Amino acid sequence: MADVKSDIEIARAAKKQPIIAIGEKLGISSDDLIPYGHDKAKISADFIASLEGKRDGKLILVTAINPTPAGEGKTTTTVGLGDGLNRIGKKAVICVREPSLGPCFGVKGGAAGGGYAQVVPMEDINLHFTGDFHAITSAHNLLSAMIDNHVYWGNELNIDIRRITWRRVMDMNDRALREIVMSLGGAKNGYPREGGFDITVASEVMAILCLAENLSDLERRLGQIVIGYRFDRSPVYARDLKADKAMAVLLKDAMQPNMVQTLENNAALVHGGPFANIAHGCNSVIATKAALKLGDYVVTEAGFGADLGAEKFFDIKCRQAGLKPDAAVIVATIRALKMNGGVKKEDLSAENVEALVRGCANLGRHVANVRKFGVPVVVAINHFISDTDAEIAAIKDYVDRLGADAIVCRHWAEGSAGIEELAYKVVELADGGQAKFQPLYPDETPLFDKIQTVASKIYHAGEVTADKAVRDQLKAWEEQGYGNLPVCIAKTQYSFSTDPTLRGAPEGHVVHVREVRLSAGAGFIVAITGEIMTMPGLPRSPSAERIFLNDEGQIEGLF
Ligand code: ADP
Ligand code: MG
Repeated sequence: MADVKSDIEIARAAKKQPIIAIGEKLGISSDDLIPYGHDKAKISADFIASLEGKRDGKLILVTAINPTPAGEGKTTTTVGLGDGLNRIGKKAVICVREPSLGPCFGVKGGAAGGGYAQVVPMEDINLHFTGDFHAITSAHNLLSAMIDNHVYWGNELNIDIRRITWRRVMDMNDRALREIVMSLGGAKNGYPREGGFDITVASEVMAILCLAENLSDLERRLGQIVIGYRFDRSPVYARDLKADKAMAVLLKDAMQPNMVQTLENNAALVHGGPFANIAHGCNSVIATKAALKLGDYVVTEAGFGADLGAEKFFDIKCRQAGLKPDAAVIVATIRALKMNGGVKKEDLSAENVEALVRGCANLGRHVANVRKFGVPVVVAINHFISDTDAEIAAIKDYVDRLGADAIVCRHWAEGSAGIEELAYKVVELADGGQAKFQPLYPDETPLFDKIQTVASKIYHAGEVTADKAVRDQLKAWEEQGYGNLPVCIAKTQYSFSTDPTLRGAPEGHVVHVREVRLSAGAGFIVAITGEIMTMPGLPRSPSAERIFLNDEGQIEGLF
C-alpha cells in the first residue's frame, strides 16, 4: 500500500481542460463565463437569468449516516457519482460547497473530495479560490463597523449596546477572538463593549448568499438582518443602518457561482459554504438552480449526517427555494457503522460483523427519516480497503430488509468506473417518478412545535426542554412576524441525540434548547442544543505546521 497517493498528489496529476471547454460542454459560451485564471470561472449573472423557463433536471441529494470524526466521504461520493453519471452517458452537474480556509490549517484537511473523486484545482478551492469568502467576510464586517460607528456618532437609533447580537467574522480558526472587549483606549475609540469573532462560514451573510435567488433578493435579505435591539427591545435591522446596499455591492461577484472540473473533466459548481450547525450547510440556491437548467441530473451534498444536513436541505433550502429533490443517496462506511456499533477508533480496521450489524440501526433510522420527506433512497457503501466481504454482505442484507439497495462504491480508488452501479440505480430512482417531496412540517406550525417535530420525528427524542426565557423569545418572534420561519437546529453531528458519545440509534433522549437566535435575513430560527462552536480553535499540532511550498513552488501538506 506504499503507493497510495495523497489527494493533493492525485489532484496535481490531473489532466485538466481549459475551463472554457468545460463550460462549452454545458452550453455556456465563453462570453458568459468569467474566467479566474485557466481552471476556474464564474458563471455570469446575466446568463443565469437567461436560463429562466428552461426545463429543470433531476435533483439528487447526497447525505450520510452519523459520521466518524474523519468524515464519511459525502463530498467524495458526490463528485464520484457526478462522474459516474457522466460515464454512463448522462449529462450531470455536481454542486458542492466551497471549503472554509481556516480548518485546512487545523485538522480537517481539504474538502474537495478525495482519491480519484475530486474537484480541481484542489489547492485553490481549499484556499482563496475566487475570493467569495473574503467578500463575505468584508460585507459582514462592514456592517459590524457601521454599527459601532453609528453608536460613536450619537446612536440616533437608540441601539442598546449590551444587546448587539451582530459579531465580527474571519476565515481562520482563532479561539483567542471568541470573546473580546472592544473599543478600549478612550473616548476617541468609541464605547467599550463585549464582542467577538465567528468563523466566516458561520456568518449570516454566508447563509443569506446561499439562500438568495438573485441580487435583489440578496439585498432584501441583507436589509432584514437583525443586528441587535433598542432599549425598548425592538429589533434594529441592517437597513436601519443603511448598510444593506453597500454590503450587496461587496457581494456582487461572490453571488455568481464558481465552475471548476472533476478529475474526469466534468463540470462542478462550487459555491457557498454555510456551517451545517447554526446554518443550513448546503451550497448556494443560485448554483443548484443554475445546475438544474444546465444538466439533466444534479448531484448535490448537504453537510454532516442526514439528521442535520438532509433535514435542513429539505426543510430550509428546498422549502425556501421551491426545489423538489428526486432521490437521495445515503453514504455509509463500514468503519462508521462499526463505530456506531460501539467499536473504538483504534480497532476499526479489524473485521467485526456483530458490531457492524448493531451500528446498522443508525443507517436504518436515516433511511426511514429521509423517506419521511417523500424522497426515495439508495445506500452507497463508500468502500475502504479494510472492508471485508462478510461485512459488506451483512450491510447489504440489512438494507435489503429495509426495502432499499446498498451498493458498494469504489470511486475513491477507481474514479467513475467504481461507481457505475450506483449511477444506474440513481437514474432509475430519479426517473421513476416515485418522489413526492414534502417538508417535515408546514410553515404555520408554531416555532417550538417545529423544534419538537424535528426532535421527535428525526432524532427520536422523548422530550424537548427549554427555559422560560427561550420559550418567551420564540413567542416574541412569533408576535413580530417570524413565526412562519423554519427552524435550524444546531446539534452535534455524531449522534441523533445531543450527546456526541451516544451512537447508534438512541431513543427517548431529552433535547435541551439552550439558546435561540434569529437569522431574519437568511430566513430561519436557530435552536442551539449542546455546545456549538462558531469559532473553532487549532489543535495542539495544527496541519499548518506541515503545509509548505516545495522547491517547484507547489503547495505541499494539504490533503
Ligand atoms: P465528508 O464530505 O463526508 O466530510 P469527504 O468526502 O471530504 O467527507 O472525505 C473525507 C476524507 O476521507 C477525505 O480526505 C477523503 O480523501 C477520505 N476518503 C473518502 N473516501 C475514502 C475511501 N473510500 N477510502 C479512503 N479514504 C477516503
Ligand atoms: Mg464534505
